[in-house]
Amino acid sequence: MIVKNGRVARSGAREFEALDVRITGERISEIGRGLSGDGPILDARGLCVLPGGIDPHVHFDDPGYTHREDFYHGSCAAAAGGITTVIDMPCTSVPPVTNASSLGRKLDAIGPKSVVDYGLYGGVRAQSFEGEWAGHMEEIAADVMGFKTYFVSGMESFGRLNHYQFRQVLDVARELGRPVLLHAEDYDYVTAATPVYRRHGDSPADYYGSRPEAAETLAVLAAVELAEGAGADLHIVHLGTAAAGRVLRGRGATGETAPHYLAFTLDDFRRVGSPLKITPPLKPGENREELWELLADGTIDFVASDHAPCPAEEKGTGSIWTDYSGIPGCGTLLPYVFSEGYVKGRITLQRTLEVISENAARRYGFADRKGSIAVGKDADLVLIDPQSDWVVRGQQFHSKGKITPFEGVQFRGRIVKTVLRGKVIYDAGEGILAPGGYGRMLRPLA
Ligand SMILES: [Zn+2]
Repeated sequence: MIVKNGRVARSGAREFEALDVRITGERISEIGRGLSGDGPILDARGLCVLPGGIDPHVHFDDPGYTHREDFYHGSCAAAAGGITTVIDMPCTSVPPVTNASSLGRKLDAIGPKSVVDYGLYGGVRAQSFEGEWAGHMEEIAADVMGFKTYFVSGMESFGRLNHYQFRQVLDVARELGRPVLLHAEDYDYVTAATPVYRRHGDSPADYYGSRPEAAETLAVLAAVELAEGAGADLHIVHLGTAAAGRVLRGRGATGETAPHYLAFTLDDFRRVGSPLKITPPLKPGENREELWELLADGTIDFVASDHAPCPAEEKGTGSIWTDYSGIPGCGTLLPYVFSEGYVKGRITLQRTLEVISENAARRYGFADRKGSIAVGKDADLVLIDPQSDWVVRGQQFHSKGKITPFEGVQFRGRIVKTVLRGKVIYDAGEGILAPGGYGRMLRPLA
């Protein structure tokens, strides 16, 4: 197949270039002008051709919490949003992915379902310390992109680690050559503040009060110190506080933020309520523009969705304290960054490519196959009409989750086609074109 007449975004490019892309089998075999030959032509006239997006933080909840999401619906949402690779979290499935046996059950459950390629994280939880936990990390290290941990956990089934346990995990992860991912909020602060604010009220501002900026910043400071002491590789997930992001400067650890932290503030949370309940919660206004600056200057490495939908009844329990924390996001991640980052000039084209695809592939050890448009790499592409405006409607999501804080928001740049390993898996007119099971598991380089 030849993708012809498009405006192609190659890695490192300052501008889109008028180029054709030849795909042989599942890979890109040639990039140039005026390519011709046998085989089908995919006409990309008027369209931008970007590398398929990578969403390195999703909760597809499969197996175990499939009333919220499953791998088929989640991966369809990803495909429709221009995402060709996701990395799924270990904590929101039953059993959580912490050893070889639970990883096997996960792979059995999701193998027939995914429309996009996927990697998995393993996890280490408080319960892991009751048995041969380090052995469990070894069992799955070759199959997972990293190990997810929590300083504060809302899940009884996935207990948080104290600082000493976290240091032990860092030591083992260093030996195994895998990064440790952390949900960074300070346990002492949050557990002391939560009952106080619960007595005070039941508003978004109360929820924020229980987990303000300091809770995030303290946790990142502690984690960075511990990781440096261990000589280990640390990644902070879903940064929502600019001061916490600034801690990463020059410290070796990496970080991600999410579209909701770049788009919304505490004032929006006050106004919208539960559809914007996420953890860590939204912070006051100045954080939003500062997070954009940290993303633009490279302090924050990439953007991930933290896709975590739920049914309407779990979002509307009657109390902000018990409403489910999480929103669908893998379908709006790339359109958001393209529209509000690149089109609005907040980040360059080069930086856009890095934060939606390239940096996650590098970070997790599969940049040899994915993350940019280059000869020899998987033919993972997203074709975007840069002139087309569209309005987000949750009811049209392929995800099981329909409640989105972006409801009614207009983006510039409609996704026209998504191509994974040379196959069109999504077309704006025809919908999802790949069966569940087309997506393959990715492992990091040894
Ligand atoms: Zn998450």
